[in-house]
Amino acid sequence: MAYSPDAIRHIRLSTATLPLPTPISDAKVFTGRQKPMTEVVFLFAEITTAQGHQGVGFSYSKRAGGPAQYAHAKEVAENVIGEDPHDIAKLYDKLLWAGASVGRSGVATQALAAIDIALYDLKARRADLPLAKLLGAHRDSVRTYNTSGGFLHATVEEITARADQSRAEGIGGIKIKVGLPDTAEDLRRVTAVREHLGPEVPLMVDANQQWDRATALRMGRRLEEFDLIWIEEPLDAYDAEGHAALTTALDTPIATGEMLASVTEHQRLIDARSCDIIQPDAPRVGGITQFLRLSALAHHAGLGLAPHFAMEIHLHLAAAYPTEPWVEHFDWLDPLFEERLEIREGRMLVPDRPGLGITLTEQARSWTTESVEFGTR
Ligand SMILES: [Mg+2]
Repeated sequence: MAYSPDAIRHIRLSTATLPLPTPISDAKVFTGRQKPMTEVVFLFAEITTAQGHQGVGFSYSKRAGGPAQYAHAKEVAENVIGEDPHDIAKLYDKLLWAGASVGRSGVATQALAAIDIALYDLKARRADLPLAKLLGAHRDSVRTYNTSGGFLHATVEEITARADQSRAEGIGGIKIKVGLPDTAEDLRRVTAVREHLGPEVPLMVDANQQWDRATALRMGRRLEEFDLIWIEEPLDAYDAEGHAALTTALDTPIATGEMLASVTEHQRLIDARSCDIIQPDAPRVGGITQFLRLSALAHHAGLGLAPHFAMEIHLHLAAAYPTEPWVEHFDWLDPLFEERLEIREGRMLVPDRPGLGITLTEQARSWTTESVEFGTR
């Protein structure tokens, strides 16, 4: 059958505020840099083509930036109307040039991410393939670990109870936050959790950028005995040299990258050999087009991959990474989507549904604060 060009006919952008049941605190709150997080703001893009194909994508922001992402997307989205939805890289460039004066990273490209991800979802749905299969998967499931149970606002007792629950649900690894102003308290918490879990359970810690170089090295050495899968964000996200020194000095792998907002920023980490495991976030780096460019660079540099947050997207992207990755389990987004990801024996299963395999719930619609449409239905 000959290829028949399709055209994007309609795009709906909306922004919704997801309330979190409990205010969330990591080390940035304990060092006074941020307030506890109470909500996550989403930018959704829903695209329909002349042939009736559909795709949905999203971007998100924590604490600030949601209105800016929505406003930027609203200014540039109309540029994709009438275009062939298959030509994702071309459309990405077109959107990028439409907003070129505000740059190629951060809010400007996070706004494009929702559209880019929707185009990938649409392409995979049209092909009747899960996104991982469209990209070319190396595996049908990915090792998964829980983060949401290990925040600093939780007591050790709460963390171990949540860890037991996660393990009972089939989640393999457990990550806990560190980076308290009192490093002895950090060590006490890690010791208690490791003792509770036993030596076999994969355990990670995350300092959310709150150590200086000397503290990170000292803590890194103290943490070696816990046989951690990785130490995450020991230093400021932009301290490539500091991370590189730690990566060389410690046996425990160093992971970082979630706060970076473009491929170029990640490339600096890769070039400086700043980590063992890179943690990009597709919405934050500008979408799947950018994520794939960066995962190619990371693989060539011999890095492991553990994407940050948004497991609904990253499960597919991790499944397509050549070496065995990890995917971060966060149940926060569950109220937004009808479907649930299946987890078994420590691994998250790539869904057999086409595309990302997500459908927005009525609840997500009810949390919408603004929306705008371009083109005709
Ligand atoms: Mg983190």
